Amino acid sequence: MTRSARAVPVLMYHHISTTPGMFTVSLGHFAAQMAHLARSGYTTIGSTQLAAYLAGEPLPKKSVMLTFDDGYLDNWVHAHPVLQAHGLTALCFLVTSWIGEGPMRARSGPKLPPLLNHRDGEVAIENGDADRTILRWSEIDVMRDGGTFEFHSHTHSHVRWDQVSTNADDKCAGLARDLIAARTTLKARLGAASDHLCWPQGYYDDDYRRVASQAGFRHFYTCETGSNYPGNDDGAGRSISRLEVRDRSALWIASRLWVHTRPAISRAYLKIKR
Ligand SMILES: [Zn+2]
Repeated sequence: MTRSARAVPVLMYHHISTTPGMFTVSLGHFAAQMAHLARSGYTTIGSTQLAAYLAGEPLPKKSVMLTFDDGYLDNWVHAHPVLQAHGLTALCFLVTSWIGEGPMRARSGPKLPPLLNHRDGEVAIENGDADRTILRWSEIDVMRDGGTFEFHSHTHSHVRWDQVSTNADDKCAGLARDLIAARTTLKARLGAASDHLCWPQGYYDDDYRRVASQAGFRHFYTCETGSNYPGNDDGAGRSISRLEVRDRSALWIASRLWVHTRPAISRAYLKIKR
């Protein structure tokens, strides 16, 4: 390795689907985006590599991280095979109380399950039918074994404790219980739970950071736009900025990565945007 990455963009996806909707990248665009990454010599990095990079270790110059929030069924049906075809890897943030039991669902053919759009999926989850839109443990196991996905915490319930609590003590207690339940479930089902946490709806405050760091988390994935550089660990952990991927072509992702792998250009670009 002659030169290390000067900035590492972390891309944020939710749905990869043939069903159009909010927070959805079409399968065609996603396949083109991943083909571009592979063709252009990008290395997709994992959580351990990102943590080491932020602590000062070098990474290949063209490094990028792919992340998927919430653990949707379409990640199994569409994202996993595309990643596997290109030898790319990603992180998926699971809401552990939503995940179902049962056999793997078909990824093609007549038994392919209907893929709900974001709004219909939200309704299914509210109605206690998360299985229609969320991954099962059997699918998670195959995605892990296939080497495409790592799985990390997005809390147990996805509840916004700042919105449902009447005071700060209740908020902190609710979040603490939520994080411990998520950690216990991941440990029981996957054999391990990492110190990487994705904030539900990107929300956090000082209490959230304190409670999460007491629960053993050190890497916090936000919805704040930007790239990532070594340093800036404030002792209670490190916030990770992300780039929300739009339903756009490979050319669009190429331009985003060009900007956000260059610290000065990335910072200037974000300043102008604000
Ligand atoms: Zn989420």
